[in-house]
Amino acid sequence: MAKKQFKTESKRILDLMINSIYTHQEIFLRELISNASDAIDKLCYLSLTDENVGMTRDDFRIKLGVSEQDRIISVSDNGIGMTKEDLENNLGVIARSGSLKFKEDAAKEGGMSEMDIIGQFGVGFYSAFMVADKVTVISKAYGSDTAYKWESTGVDGYTIEESSKDGVGTDVILHLKPDTSEEESEYTRFLNSISIGQLVKKYSDYIRWPIVMDFDYMEETETEEKDAEGNPVMEQKPVTREEVINSMVPIWQRDKNEVTEEESDDFYQNAFYDYEKPVSTIRVNAEGQVSYRAMLFIPGRLPTNFVPNEAEPGLQLYSNGVMIMERCKEVLPECFRFVRGVVDSPDFSLNISREMLQHDRQLRIICNNLEKKIKNELRRLMDDEPEKYERFYNAFSYQLKYNMMANHGEKKEFLSDLLMYYSSTRKELVPFSEYKASMPEEQKYIYYVCTDSITRADSLPQAEQIRDKGYEVLYLTDDLDGFIMRALKEYEGVPFCDITTDDLGLETEDEKEETKKLQEENKDLLQFVKDTLGDAISDVRISHKLKTAPVYLSTEGDITIEMEKYFSVVKSEMSDMIKAKRVLELNGEHPAFEALKKAYDEDRPRAEKLAKILHGEGLLVAGLPMENAAEFSEMVCELF
Ligand code: ADP
Ligand code: MG
Repeated sequence: MAKKQFKTESKRILDLMINSIYTHQEIFLRELISNASDAIDKLCYLSLTDENVGMTRDDFRIKLGVSEQDRIISVSDNGIGMTKEDLENNLGVIARSGSLKFKEDAAKEGGMSEMDIIGQFGVGFYSAFMVADKVTVISKAYGSDTAYKWESTGVDGYTIEESSKDGVGTDVILHLKPDTSEEESEYTRFLNSISIGQLVKKYSDYIRWPIVMDFDYMEETETEEKDAEGNPVMEQKPVTREEVINSMVPIWQRDKNEVTEEESDDFYQNAFYDYEKPVSTIRVNAEGQVSYRAMLFIPGRLPTNFVPNEAEPGLQLYSNGVMIMERCKEVLPECFRFVRGVVDSPDFSLNISREMLQHDRQLRIICNNLEKKIKNELRRLMDDEPEKYERFYNAFSYQLKYNMMANHGEKKEFLSDLLMYYSSTRKELVPFSEYKASMPEEQKYIYYVCTDSITRADSLPQAEQIRDKGYEVLYLTDDLDGFIMRALKEYEGVPFCDITTDDLGLETEDEKEETKKLQEENKDLLQFVKDTLGDAISDVRISHKLKTAPVYLSTEGDITIEMEKYFSVVKSEMSDMIKAKRVLELNGEHPAFEALKKAYDEDRPRAEKLAKILHGEGLLVAGLPMENAAEFSEMVCELF
């Protein structure tokens, strides 16, 4: 019989498959099963209108066979089948789907490698050649009396001849390649009902037709014989039972009310390898521009790096129950990268190549919708189930903050009402919305301070006035917080005020005038302190913020002390350049200031010491390192 040649492009794909060193060879099974499922869909659809089909829904199934002896894996369906022409047109040509062109384009753009594309979208029927050196397809089309056999050993072409087959449908028979390395049993590992069963579970669990396979068991049965006591003698007998391996209906396709919380949590924990339950589950059933279902989970703990890839973001993509991608980044909003879950749409095709552009657009629409859903759910948790939100927040607040700053702060406003900070008055985490809601009418700002300790923040001298007024101060303890507040500037129209650097806006005009006067009167003294301290500070001032404390260090400009600390910890190249401009602020009404003034008039060396001591106190209160601590200690002792 003459061999027919594959079309050129098919040849190239085939070549790729045959010589594939791709590690996910196992996807061949998913591809064949999905073809079988499609074929059944077609015949089932026909049966609705055509009585001659003579089949009902319950008759359809996909049967898998494994023969270790013959090194054969078979996938059989009782679907629509293929005529001779179908075999020729469908299995001889791959270019039809445009896969190759798509692959070339993608490779040119430097995005995905060919192997990535195979892994994620498959190349359909041809993937059989990743594991088989000969593929036989025996098919009888619905409405035809003759069956045909298509056979190919690879690039050199294929043959088609008449054959025989009982019912309508298709058998795809793979003759596995010999192993090249014995240890890994490269291909032999597929010749085993258990591993085939696992592959079905992994990739095709939710195919809507039953996938069955024969399993051999030893069973105890009674024999005719009786023992001495007259009881029947038992005998071990091998039996074969056909079992359904797939669960058919995905949990996300079932009605929300039919799925118990336990089932849902179990699914999450198994599918996403978490030993804890999720904080929340989001179900989406969308129809319209794009129809899809999604089941999303908000985890309650950070992923570890023990399970490979666990930390990689992405949602599982399904098309009508067939998994097409394990981690699709495009469909998961970047600012919620920690969310896990599944998106299933009949509009996704197994072979992305065909509608790549449209596909892209779909993914974007879904992604935007999911972004809103996730945000709403997080807000709901915050309001209605604060313990759960706190669990989530403890695990992911840093990521949220990081994501606010990512992409030039694109999502900073969007995410800002998910933040919570420790409140000086309530002694617990509160969101900006709550802070704002409980602000007295005359309060102009949302006050905050970046600090590494709550105790330190509680005793900050700058906060005295605010504390006296009974206003709330937010204590920000993450190194990113300072940057975030500077970027946000305000929350719903209420500006933020960093109590260590900004004007608190609490003074009357008279008070301001008075401070100014005091400043003017003590000009020479302040200049003297500045000269004494040299590089350590950039300015000295009389402060209006202080009431009982003698001194504190504030900063000028955009860089705060907290930022400086951050950069000195990360030790970036810039850390030497990123220095806060420190200002020594003195309480003009404090006895210490009086003493300084007196010393300045009468005893300059003493005035120098007092200036240094005050500066040292400022450092201590701000939690900054003191370069010459011994000198400071000595100077303090001299005061006794
Ligand atoms: P795709 O499934 O994306 O169309 P494939 O390479 O997987 O691409 O299959 C090519 C074509 O071969 C299918 O579109 C279908 O027409 C035909 N085909 C493959 N397997 C079967 C089958 N088991 N029964 C009927 N037709 C099949
Ligand atoms: Mg296919």
